[in-house]
Amino acid sequence: MNVLISGGGIAGLSAGILLSREGFKVTVFERSSALDDLGTGVQISPNGYKILQLLGVDKKIVPDIFEPENIHLRDGFSGKIKLSVPVKKLSRNGWGGKYFNVKRFDLLSTLLDELRKYKSSKIHFGKSLIQYEQRKKNVIAILEDGSKISGDILIGADGVFSKIRQQIFSKAELNYSGNFAWRGLADASKINCPLILKNNLIWIGPKKHAVTTILKNGSLINFVGIVEKPAENKKGTSSDNQLSALEDFKGWHKDLITILNSLKSIHRWPIYSARPFKKWSDGKVILIGDAAHPMVPSMAQGAVQALEDAAILSNLLAKSSDVTRSLSTFHKTRLNRTSRIQSLSKRNLQTFHLSNSIFRNVMYFFAFLLSKIMPNLIRKRFDWVYAYETNSKT
Ligand SMILES: Cc1cc2nc3c(=O)[nH]c(=O)nc-3n(C[C@H](O)[C@H](O)[C@H](O)COP(=O)(O)OP(=O)(O)OC[C@H]3O[C@@H](n4cnc5c(N)ncnc54)[C@H](O)[C@@H]3O)c2cc1C
Repeated sequence: MNVLISGGGIAGLSAGILLSREGFKVTVFERSSALDDLGTGVQISPNGYKILQLLGVDKKIVPDIFEPENIHLRDGFSGKIKLSVPVKKLSRNGWGGKYFNVKRFDLLSTLLDELRKYKSSKIHFGKSLIQYEQRKKNVIAILEDGSKISGDILIGADGVFSKIRQQIFSKAELNYSGNFAWRGLADASKINCPLILKNNLIWIGPKKHAVTTILKNGSLINFVGIVEKPAENKKGTSSDNQLSALEDFKGWHKDLITILNSLKSIHRWPIYSARPFKKWSDGKVILIGDAAHPMVPSMAQGAVQALEDAAILSNLLAKSSDVTRSLSTFHKTRLNRTSRIQSLSKRNLQTFHLSNSIFRNVMYFFAFLLSKIMPNLIRKRFDWVYAYETNSKT
């Protein structure tokens, strides 16, 4: 069976590998001329790690990852720790896998190398899919250069602004979340703070928060600063962006400012989200990853959910020759979980940005107390996200 995939991101490459392994002939079309190396990092939680094991890349990626000891929630101004989650211990002992940080480029390169092992599968860079046509027995992908390619199934793994979703479901609303992200990397050798160098930190404050994570086995710091502001189209040079980011985080803790001053280049990234979509498929066409369930990044689950999608979809397609039925089962299987994660991510973002400092302090004080009195509570509260096993769901 021929599978066409639009988008060579985390969702598209993972689905490509798993379907190739099942004997499908896969063709991936990626709009960019090469893998995205914008210098950003992602956190992969144990539920995502389990899919990397399934993909056979968990060991290959080891030299590029960093496993934080804890996730600390830190007051953005005073630096005081409000809440700590011993994520390394919980993940390895309770959630069945590693919790780690990785540079997106390293993850994508590892996935691409794996896909290329399958001689029957192909990836074409610099090819943008603009439209599809359903036929009785097949589906035709139409590329921007005018070429038409026929397949038995088309997977839309083309991200937040998915062209395929726009065709499937023209009423699907995508909204600016009211926040944008500053993203950049700093050389970790310039930072002399053990707390930052061993842990993932979430720095919270009114209407904004920042996340610092360590990448590349300890040599880089990944900075993400999420700021509540209206959408702006201007791009700005890296040094303009740095000045604007420093202005946004003016008065924040000196460690964070040191990181901001050390960023090599800094990009502005508008964040979009959506309510759960009622439909992910149209005949022989299906959406996965951000194309199916865009979310704000405050649970660090977008890429991980894309990995879960790839595993579940490929399993369903491998088990039955009734494509339409498999695609409909895929939506039913995934909708509830991804919708819950979309809304939890939104709630986290709102909580991190609370403006009322008294309310915020009381809330985190109780959360801190609970985490001390009942240390298992955090593990249990997040079991459904992190201990999830895809193989028991299909
Ligand atoms: C600030 C920030 C921090 C984040 N941190 C985390 C984190 O720590 N952990 C986590 O799990 N997630 C995180 N995410 C979310 C994560 O980045 C996304 O959920 C993930 O990249 C989705 O993968 P995808 O493959 O579905 O889409 P994408 O990564 O967007 O990939 C889509 C691909 O399709 C290509 N494409 C688009 N249109 C076309 C077309 N017409 N034809 C052909 N190709 C096309 C694109 O070039 C791209 O390569 C974060 C997001 C943001 C904004």
